[in-house]
Amino acid sequence: MIKDSNTLVNSLIHYGREKLYLSNIDEIHLRNRLLAKFKLEEYFPSDEKANKLDELITSIEQIALHEKLVEEGELETFTTAIMDMISPLPSFVQTTFFDLLHHNSSEEACRFLFNLQVDNDYIKLSKIKLNLFWKANFPNNYLEITINLSKPEKDNKVTAKLAREVSSKYPKCILCYENLGYAGRHDSPPRQNIRLVDFKLGDEDWFMQYSPYQYYEEHVVIIHKKHVNMKIDEQTFIKLCDFVDLFPNYFVGSNASLPIVGGSILNHEHFQGGKHLMPIFASASKYELRKKGYEDCKISYLDWYNSCLKITSSNRDKIIAFASEILAVWNKYRDEEIDLIPYTKEQHNAITPIIRKVNHEYQLYIVLRNNRTNEEHPDGIFHAHRPFHNIKKESIGLIEAMGLFILPGRLKRQFTVIEDILMGKVSQEEAIKLHPDIIIHQEMINTLQKEYGIHNSKQQIKSILEQYINNTCRQILECTAIFKNTPMGDKHFRKFLQAIDLEIIGG
Ligand SMILES: [Zn+2]
Repeated sequence: MIKDSNTLVNSLIHYGREKLYLSNIDEIHLRNRLLAKFKLEEYFPSDEKANKLDELITSIEQIALHEKLVEEGELETFTTAIMDMISPLPSFVQTTFFDLLHHNSSEEACRFLFNLQVDNDYIKLSKIKLNLFWKANFPNNYLEITINLSKPEKDNKVTAKLAREVSSKYPKCILCYENLGYAGRHDSPPRQNIRLVDFKLGDEDWFMQYSPYQYYEEHVVIIHKKHVNMKIDEQTFIKLCDFVDLFPNYFVGSNASLPIVGGSILNHEHFQGGKHLMPIFASASKYELRKKGYEDCKISYLDWYNSCLKITSSNRDKIIAFASEILAVWNKYRDEEIDLIPYTKEQHNAITPIIRKVNHEYQLYIVLRNNRTNEEHPDGIFHAHRPFHNIKKESIGLIEAMGLFILPGRLKRQFTVIEDILMGKVSQEEAIKLHPDIIIHQEMINTLQKEYGIHNSKQQIKSILEQYINNTCRQILECTAIFKNTPMGDKHFRKFLQAIDLEIIGG
């Protein structure tokens, strides 16, 4: 660990040169700014070498506290400010990114920005590595499950409230462009070291940044430069196509613009994308379909847990036209026998669109969604039903719809207690007295106790709980399906096909 401020300044400059494109011309300028930040008036050269980011961050924190440069609560802001100082300016990042994009490849351009954001501690790779991750295999498909140990969970009702709130603060929300370099405040994290790149989607100005707590490989957030509400219309499909034309190495999708079926931020239009191959991309077709006027397109209905149409074509105009047609019909599509009511006082039908490019062909996925609630299902008819809320109760957004479940960090802690119950170390009653929050798992504990008893080994319990989570996640996705995987669901799906002039040609 680095012991004193002067050595730390030298280490930071060394790190900047090695990893963050610090040029000789800027070195003395940076050194003097760092000296001021650490309240040093003298400077002593030393050939300090620091390449390990974690060590560097810990050293900044320790020295900042020891030298009383910050109060404890301001440590993150201070560290982030230092990492910003040793990072290249946004203009350099933008120029280098587009040089790589135009002269090399989109992969190299993205790699450059991604690595820069890891190396300047914006993307918290070491924290992300703590997340639990596994694959849940089922006969026809697989899901991916991750227990997120870095972010708090959100309640749908809170999300709905946030979505309605009109904000006048600066920046208006956590996605706004004005966060570039912003030091943050009590309700928003410091963003000094964020770097992003601007481009046009449709005829609008947008930009892209990486997610600091990425849920999957190279998780990008693509954001409107203006603080405007999420919406899905024909322009959305044009913008999604523009994005994969620029970045064929990434998929991109938009959350539905309604609560329960959408993401947590509805008041600032944005997409999410990345390099990761989502489980839905591996899903086979249940039906091959045909539509007049779309002879050069391959259309199918997926053998997937929710209700998803897929269309593949190298014809971009056809992809956009198909998506727009489905959206127009779906927005008004009604089938009360299966509780599908498209709108009441407000809109309920919605779609989650996702696009990727494979061998120069566009593949568009349209997941059909509805966010209506009723007395029986106050949290959503096509949402995770009550018995599954102990595992996940928040919105089932774009990422889950594609088969990657982000589960709340509380599960790790709660499952340690449940482990003790299933090993017979503590009774259920005692456990609940000591840890009242596990009461939400009572039904699950009863079921598991009945099935497996209380004399299990640690290893057995791990697999029992994993299996339980896997099945629950699958059932949650099935809850979100409009057309269930039953003869009755099939009958209603066929009725819907008629409404959009789609014909089954194989299955
Ligand atoms: Zn905003």
